[in-house]
This record gives sequence, structure tokens and C-alpha cells, in this order.
Amino acid sequence: MMSNETYMNAASIIAETFSKDPNTKTGCIIVNPEGEIVGAGYNQLPSEELSWDDKGWAARHAEVDAIADAFKNRSVDIENIDKYIMYVTLFPCHPCAHLVIASGFKKLYTNCDKYKESGKYLNSETKQLLKKSRVSVNFDLCDIQADLKDQDAYNMLKEYAEKYNPYMLEYFEGGVEL
Ligand SMILES: [Zn+2]
Repeated sequence: MMSNETYMNAASIIAETFSKDPNTKTGCIIVNPEGEIVGAGYNQLPSEELSWDDKGWAARHAEVDAIADAFKNRSVDIENIDKYIMYVTLFPCHPCAHLVIASGFKKLYTNCDKYKESGKYLNSETKQLLKKSRVSVNFDLCDIQADLKDQDAYNMLKEYAEKYNPYMLEYFEGGVEL
């Protein structure tokens, strides 16, 4: 296992490398009990015919992307999914929280909770939903600046890409300069 900071750095590297969101690039990774990354996702438009102007209804969120990725890869042992950990760079929105719960995840780290103060997007209701569904959300990494040059995070992402994600592999071979 790497440190939680390194896993969160990996999620941040995914966001910065792949998301085209003009405002809030978001990344998510799924880590198995052995400490390996088995799923990764970022907020994106699912079709070239969609626009970021319609982000509210058009964007696929990072958690949806990462969970779909891991399930498509068949890299998750469903019986033990409660032992997997999700790292997401932004506290989940309400529909994503439902997806996290429905998929069986029980542990989540986030490093940004920027809607906490504004009360927007059902932030407090989402926290209640997760808590009462026994999903632990760890905010210890909130507001810690991500290290986008973390070599350990790159190496883990490269291993993940070699196994599961040919599209991402070219970005992690040889280390990407951001
Ligand atoms: Zn969401």
C-alpha cells in the first residue's frame, strides 16, 4: 500500500491529464485490498456531439466513469467490494453517492468539499445519505495540494494502464510532464 496522499495524487493526475472540463476537472480511482489501482475515471462528455455548455446534464462524472471502468475490466472482486477504496478529488454529488452505495463501496477519500459552505447540490443531504448507508468518507486530505509529479502515483497508474487501459497507457509511459 502507498500512502493515501499518493493515491489521491493519482486521482488528481487522472483529472489533470484527461478531463477537459473548463472549470472543475475531477478524477477518481478505485484501489483493491492489495493496494493496486483497478479502476480510473474522470469527468467527461460521453459524446462529441455534447458541449460543456450543457455540463449540468451532459457530463459523466468521475465516479460513474471509474466504477464503470472497474466493472468493465472485471478487476473487482464483487464479494469483497467493501474492502476497496475510492479516491475522488471532489466530494460526490448526490446521484454519484447513490451509485457508490449501490455498487457496494464502503470507503471513500476526497480532497475537496468546496460546496460545503454554499449548501449547494444537496451537499449535507449527500453526507447524511452516505453516513446512514455506512459509507465512511474521509476528509483528511481536503485542501492538501495535490503533487502532480508524484512518481509513485505515476508508476501505479502506469501499472493500471498496462493491465486495463490501453488508451491511458501512452500518457504514462516514460512519465508525463504536466
Ligand atoms: Zn457526480
